[in-house]
Amino acid sequence: MQPVPEVKENEVKIRVRYGGICGSDLRVYKGQIIYAQYPLRPGHEVVGTVIEAGVNATQKVGTKVAVFPNTYCGECEFCIGGKTNICKYKKPLGVSTDGVFAQEVVIDAKYAVPIPDGMPDKRAVLVEPFAVTVHALKKAEIGKGISVAVVGCGTEGLLAVALSLNMGAEVTVIDVNPVKLDIARSFGPMQTMQPQEVGKDTMFDVVIEAAGVKTAIEQAVQMVKPGGSMIALGITSEAVNWVPIHVVRNEISIFGTIIYTQQDFEDAIRYLNDPTFNVDPVISKIVPFTDFQSAFDDALSGNYAKIVLDFK
Ligand SMILES: [Zn+2]
Ligand SMILES: [Zn+2]
Repeated sequence: MQPVPEVKENEVKIRVRYGGICGSDLRVYKGQIIYAQYPLRPGHEVVGTVIEAGVNATQKVGTKVAVFPNTYCGECEFCIGGKTNICKYKKPLGVSTDGVFAQEVVIDAKYAVPIPDGMPDKRAVLVEPFAVTVHALKKAEIGKGISVAVVGCGTEGLLAVALSLNMGAEVTVIDVNPVKLDIARSFGPMQTMQPQEVGKDTMFDVVIEAAGVKTAIEQAVQMVKPGGSMIALGITSEAVNWVPIHVVRNEISIFGTIIYTQQDFEDAIRYLNDPTFNVDPVISKIVPFTDFQSAFDDALSGNYAKIVLDFK
């Protein structure tokens, strides 16, 4: 076991309660991230309690916090413009440096985000992945009367389903896996279909592509109504085939979206602090951290939504 480092003046020590396993943790686990330096501790989606605070830290001992796990420089042109999510020097915890899957971690206090009193830990552990969704869904107008298709029901897809429903949209969910469509339906009224059921005239104002698979991305563009938008949330480095004339003639807007800013984190906390916001089905399992092997195996199976490690 690694020793927990000393707390410096600008840092806090956190006793971690829950940690959500994310797709990037799985890529680190499988050795698929070329710039990852092993041995590497994964983890970036955690909630815990401050148990020690450096003299300059504003968080008091006992404060519940989520971790903002993408460090940024604060000085580059993007940071100055408020877009810290595309900072040239940003570093994701658990990928470029050791992550926070541990019982105790020390981090820079500026990345320890206080959670309101009374918000259950099981919700607070969703702040980080949900902030990704909040940031993404700001790209297009989503609300009452707007038809939204969510393609792919990983955690990000399911969180996009939950938020789109909350915003009053008419939601359709598309996934190859019927098990995932069953999970999606527990969020509220919606249509569900498998990709082969999508017809030529199946079109939506907004298509949220959260599968990150070549065929799904290609199909997603075809599903956007003229004048509509596609939000590209799924990640792949594979090349895809688009016919530019289709995008141009139909005035389709395609938005890339990556992580979040501190404001998105605050907005995510606000949504999650509303007990009527139905998001709980996104957690499939909570597993003691000592069973991490089975937790990672289950996460890799693709048959679950979020799997959470309990560090108690
Ligand atoms: Zn994540
Ligand atoms: Zn920067």
